[in-house]
Amino acid sequence: MTTVDLPLLPLGLGRDPFSERGVECPGDLPPTSDPNLVERARAAKEALGDRVFVLGHHYQRDEVIQFADVTGDSFKLAREAAARPEAEYIVFCGVHFMAESADILTAPEQKVILPDLAAGCSMADMAKLAQVEDAWDALADAAVAESVVPVTYMNSSADIKAFCGRHGGVVCTSSNAETVMNWAFAEKPDAKVLFFPDQHLGRNTAVLKLGLRLEDCVVWDPHQPHGGITADELRAAKVILWKGHCSVHGRFSADVITDLRAKFPDIKILVHPECTHDVVLQADLIGSTEFIIATIENAEPGSTWAIGTELNLVQRLARNHPDKHIVFLDRNVCYCATMNRIDLPHFVWAMESLVKGQVVNQIQVDPETEKYAKLALQRMLDLPGKTHRD
Ligand code: SF4
Repeated sequence: MTTVDLPLLPLGLGRDPFSERGVECPGDLPPTSDPNLVERARAAKEALGDRVFVLGHHYQRDEVIQFADVTGDSFKLAREAAARPEAEYIVFCGVHFMAESADILTAPEQKVILPDLAAGCSMADMAKLAQVEDAWDALADAAVAESVVPVTYMNSSADIKAFCGRHGGVVCTSSNAETVMNWAFAEKPDAKVLFFPDQHLGRNTAVLKLGLRLEDCVVWDPHQPHGGITADELRAAKVILWKGHCSVHGRFSADVITDLRAKFPDIKILVHPECTHDVVLQADLIGSTEFIIATIENAEPGSTWAIGTELNLVQRLARNHPDKHIVFLDRNVCYCATMNRIDLPHFVWAMESLVKGQVVNQIQVDPETEKYAKLALQRMLDLPGKTHRD
C-alpha cells in the first residue's frame, strides 16, 4: 500500500489522519494576555497536590517548565512518571510520542495529559506504520526480511514501537543507539538493521560508533517507489536508514561551524547526534540533551561553546551559566514549533480542567499496541551498560 503524505496542516487546526500528533485543542483557552496566568497555574497545581505530576521536556518554554516537577529527556520523563504511581494525572509538557511512552510505562489507572494535542513531532510523523509495513514487504521481496532487525528511535509513534516489538526489534535513545545497534547485529547471522525514523542518528551511530562505512548504509525513501533503492542495494546494505530527520537538528550546517571557529578560535562545538553527518564530523563533542547539559555544567568558567540543539534549551543553558560564553549553532532563531505549542494558556486550561474533575486531552495507547511497544522498550531496558537517556 502506498500512502500519500499531506502537507502539514496549520498547527492545531483541522484533522490530519496521517499525523502522529493530534489535531486541535477542544477547550476554551484563557487569553495569552491574561496577566494572572502564572497565578492561575500555581493555584491549580496547589489544588491538585500529589494527584498531579508535571513533566517538562528540556525543549519546553520557560513559562511552562517553571511548573515541572521534574525536567528531562523523553525517556527519563516516562520513567519518572512510572515511578509516581500515586499520581492520578501525569501532565506531560512535551510532544505526543512522549506522552504515549508515558502512557505505556505508567499504570492503567494513571491518566496522561498533553496540554495541546497539536504538539506532535515532525520527525515521528515521517515514519508511518503503513509506510513501514510497505518497506517490510519490500525487504521480504528482496529475501532479506529474515535477517533484518528493526530499530526505532524513541522519537517515534507507539505503533512504530509496536511494529518493532512484533518483529524482534527494539527501541533506542540517542544515548544508547550504539549499544542497541550492536545488540541488533549480534541477534542474527548476517544481520541488517532497519533504523527509523531519524536517518542522521542511524548514520552517525553506524559510521562513527560501529565503524561501518558510509557505503554500508542505504536510505529508504518512503515517498519513492520501492524506497528509491534496488533489491540488490537492499541485499548489499548493512544498515537501511529511514529517510526522516528532525526539523530542528537538521538545520545546523557545517559552514556556521567554520565561521564560528574563525571568530572564536577556542570555541568548542557541542551537538546532538540528530544533526547531519557533516555537522557531527566538524563537532568537538556529540551527545544527547542530558550529555549537553552535563557538559556545560562541568565546563571551565570562561570557556566558549556553540551548541547545536533546540533553542529553548540553549537559551536556558546560557542564562544558567553566565560565567560561560554560549552561542546557538545557527544564524537564525529556530525553536521546535511543536514543542512550543505547549504554552501557559494550554497548561492553565489543562490544569484547571483537572481541578474541575474534567480530564482533557488524555493520551491513551490501545492495549494491543501497548503490549508490543512495551516489548520493544523492554528489550532495550534489558541491555547491559549504557544509560537509556535520550
Ligand atoms: S526537536 Fe525534533 S525530534 Fe524533538 S520534538 Fe521537535 S521535531 Fe521532534
